[in-house]
Amino acid sequence: MEGNTILCPLVDDIIEDIECIENRDVVDEMITEESLPNKYKRKSNWKEICRKCKWHNY
Ligand code: SF4
Repeated sequence: MEGNTILCPLVDDIIEDIECIENRDVVDEMITEESLPNKYKRKSNWKEICRKCKWHNY
C-alpha cells in the first residue's frame, strides 16, 4: 500500500506524508535545518509558509 501524499506549498508539488512530518519537525526546530532538502527552502519565508499550512498540525 502506498503512503499518503499531500500538496506541499513549499514546493508546490505532491510529497509523501512522511516527508511532511520531517519538514514540520525542522520548522518546529525539533531537528536541524541541514537535514531538510534544499527544495523545501527555495521560498524565502518557507518556515512561515509551513507553520501556516493546514497540514502543519495534522
Ligand atoms: S506542513 Fe510544511 S512540509 Fe507539510 S505540506 Fe505543509 S508546508 Fe509542506
